[in-house]
Amino acid sequence: MARNPPAIAWRRRLGAFGLAVALLLCGTAALADAPATDSATLLAQATAIRAKDHPRFLQMLDQLHRRQPTLSSNQQWQLRLLDGWEALFEGQYAKAEPLLRDVVAHGDLDQQSLANGMLLNMLAIKHRYDEAFALAEQLSAVLPRLRDRHAAYVVLSQLSQLMASAEQVQPAVDYARQMERLTPPGESLCRPYVYLFGALNAKGDLPPTDPAYRKAIDTCVAAGEPIYTNTVQLDLARRQADVGDAAAALALLKRIAPGVMAQNYRAHVYVLQSTLGYAYWVSGDAALAKRWALAALATDAKGDFEGLSENVYRVLYEVENKAGDYRAALDYYRHYKDVEFRSVNNTQAIALAYHAVHQQLAIHKLQVAELGRQNSLLELQQALDRKAMEASRLYVALLLVVLASIGFWLIRLKRSQLRFKRLARRDSLTGILNHQHFVWEAEQALRYAEKSSRPVCVVVIDLDHFKRINDTYGHAVGDAVLIRITALCRAHLRSIDVFGRLGGEEFGLVLPECSLDDAMEIVERMRAAIATTLFDEQIVEGAISASFGLASTDGNGYVLPALMAKADAALYQAKHRGRNRIEMHAGNASFVPA
Ligand code: GH3
Ligand code: MG
Ligand code: MG
Repeated sequence: MARNPPAIAWRRRLGAFGLAVALLLCGTAALADAPATDSATLLAQATAIRAKDHPRFLQMLDQLHRRQPTLSSNQQWQLRLLDGWEALFEGQYAKAEPLLRDVVAHGDLDQQSLANGMLLNMLAIKHRYDEAFALAEQLSAVLPRLRDRHAAYVVLSQLSQLMASAEQVQPAVDYARQMERLTPPGESLCRPYVYLFGALNAKGDLPPTDPAYRKAIDTCVAAGEPIYTNTVQLDLARRQADVGDAAAALALLKRIAPGVMAQNYRAHVYVLQSTLGYAYWVSGDAALAKRWALAALATDAKGDFEGLSENVYRVLYEVENKAGDYRAALDYYRHYKDVEFRSVNNTQAIALAYHAVHQQLAIHKLQVAELGRQNSLLELQQALDRKAMEASRLYVALLLVVLASIGFWLIRLKRSQLRFKRLARRDSLTGILNHQHFVWEAEQALRYAEKSSRPVCVVVIDLDHFKRINDTYGHAVGDAVLIRITALCRAHLRSIDVFGRLGGEEFGLVLPECSLDDAMEIVERMRAAIATTLFDEQIVEGAISASFGLASTDGNGYVLPALMAKADAALYQAKHRGRNRIEMHAGNASFVPA
């Protein structure tokens, strides 16, 4: 007897495993046992129990339809989703599709994802693979945008299942493992493990001893998920029969039969019957094999599960052939070959659809990769621009530093120039104007005074017997005395007065806006200060004095050399007349200290 080729195994799995899982995934963990009062609670309860307690679900659905006029818009779409689910559960695909598409068009993102998930399964069951894979592509594109963890969980399950149906084991396993990570809080790992099992069993050839069976069955039993449990167990029985272990298969099928019948999930009932027929045939019990195969055909009067009927017709053909009813055998054989032919075509169609979409996905990925490449180029460019910017900022900073230091050095240079200039204008010992600059400033003052014809007095001061000071106390003491005397004189001067050292112990003084009397007063204060100041403990008091010669612009004009000469002449007079005194030019009265 021929063993199942993978294609047949696949189709069986799609019906028994895929449909069951897809329909049930939309349930939530919340299961309220209290009688529902408000519509929102009733909707949540109906959603939660629809797969666990189908008869009660139908009662709730009926109750909800009676309340329909009072439901909110969102609740109406939720109810429509449940109607779609129920239609799929009953195998009424023509009724289910418009209901689900309506929810996709109008429901919120959660409801859309759930409806799309159901549609995906329905499209696969109805062999509309192009549409199924296109929808899968849409769903995978939506996946990163789904905010709702549960919706993402549902989408992942659909993608895992479809990849499994296309015998793409690795992506199917990857999606299932992502589901495992996204399992909502409070949910068991039953569903991720069932999908993982489905992914590993994508080719329908998982050995019945594989731990994936036990892991999924045990987890789903513990979680109280009968339909998921049955899905895996029905497939386990089929695989046991496949490998010739009819006894194990029949024992398992008999054990789960009451539960499967109680759930009354038509696809499962059909698979239970057809697998019983198959297992009995493998065990050699032709009569029971025929009985269960015919029971399966009776269950599917409308041919909804025709895709799953290959084993049913093959068993019936083998049984009739063995019994010698060649006419009946030929009829079943034709059906068997017809289903197998469609199955092969179907497998090719799935492969084609998958590869077409896969191609598009590959192109899309390439585009994404290209975008990524462009993006990294852009990033590189931006990084370069940033570096260039940083570099130019550095250049600017450097330039500023250079400019600042140039400025700094320019300022320093200017300052030292000014200092040198000042130094050049000052007498190095006393700090007052040197001869040359005294002349320049004195002429300025005279010119200015001349414009307004204001009086200016010019004074020449010479220290008396200074040579003696030097000779007696030394040159250093002489220097100190010179410094001290200039300080004494400056104390009596105004800011507009011009004071300079003409050389040696001779000083010049220009007093703008001063009459002879005013000048006399100022100069007398200076003379007295010098004569009465105790310069040094060594120097005898009164040992130092100065003589002053005055000349005024009044009647003498504003020409400096002439005025200086006249003041000099007056000074000469002062020396001549005994020193420590002030003389005015042109026979003016001499001033003798009191
Ligand atoms: P007279 O009262 O006639 O002016 O007598 P005098 O000694 O002051 O006159 P004289 O011109 O003979 O001498 C000026 C002296 O001033 C000569 C010099 O030793 C002294 N002298 C000139 N310049 C400086 C100086 O920068 N420092 C010191 N310590 N002495 C100076
Ligand atoms: Mg002198
Ligand atoms: Mg002198």
